[in-house]
Amino acid sequence: MTDRRKVYLYYKPSEELEPKIEQLRTLGRKYDFELVKDYTEANIIASIGGDGTFLQAIRKTNFRDDCLYVGINDGHLGFYTDFSLDDMDRIEEGLQSDIIEVLRYPVIDVTVDGLKTFQCLNECSIRSNVIKTFALDVYIDDLYFETFRGDGMVISTPTGSTAYNKSLKGAVVDPRLKGMQLTEIASLNNNEYRTLGAPLLLNGDRNLVLKVIQDGNDHPIIGADNEALSIRHCHEIHIKLASKQIKTLKMKDNSFLHKVKRSFL
Ligand code: NAP
Ligand code: MN
Repeated sequence: MTDRRKVYLYYKPSEELEPKIEQLRTLGRKYDFELVKDYTEANIIASIGGDGTFLQAIRKTNFRDDCLYVGINDGHLGFYTDFSLDDMDRIEEGLQSDIIEVLRYPVIDVTVDGLKTFQCLNECSIRSNVIKTFALDVYIDDLYFETFRGDGMVISTPTGSTAYNKSLKGAVVDPRLKGMQLTEIASLNNNEYRTLGAPLLLNGDRNLVLKVIQDGNDHPIIGADNEALSIRHCHEIHIKLASKQIKTLKMKDNSFLHKVKRSFL
């Protein structure tokens, strides 16, 4: 990159964080980076915090596909954070060398009742908002697949596979596989209701439609990563892999498999 690099920093300001951020700003100036206050002007958006903060940084800056996102954590290394505020040497190394790679992460598009489309980097979750179960008809590419009754369903991206999906015994998916995974949250299985009962990994060109059965409990909570959508009532949720992808910087010696091993093994 030879053009002037404009950086937007996304973080929750705190007294504790400020001295470290100042160190980061100084380092940036040394390498001729310009800090901008408006994220739309940036070509690099750096999130400072955990994976949860990275998810928010992407959401609050509208899932831009024309800039690079960089995750810098303030504690332990996460799945989206390749750098650490406690290791300025490594950030400096990253700023000047070729040990950095650009990764593209698949994102899913969620459209509710044909009105508004939301993006998710980890997953879309649909959960009953009361103690009772709720029911959904699941369609894949127009094929009626199953009727689900239970607590909810999660549709995760490959990078989201190590989050909520993993707690539901979904498979951990290599982000090089461009697809999405459907997992169940406590499905009821009896002679009336029958679901697959196993995580379903779908190719990236599939269209998934969830039709909420209007039986009284038809106000599920719809979550996009770590935010609940403000939708009170819904009929149909369309989910597919988005055409755009999130670009992020990573160190070459910190692959997806390194992260899985570091976090879980
Ligand atoms: P949170 O409830 O505070 O944290 C959930 C944990 O998941 C945090 O440790 C977070 O890391 C980690 N995490 C986030 N994305 C991950 C990923 N792609 N791979 C592995 N771990 C990941 O909420 P949050 O920090 O805002 O994160 C939101 C995510 O939490 C949701 O997208 C969902 O995947 C997950 N979640 C999980 C469950 C569950 O497992 N039962 C329930 C609800 C939500 P940091 O500490 O670095 O932020
Ligand atoms: Mn968190």
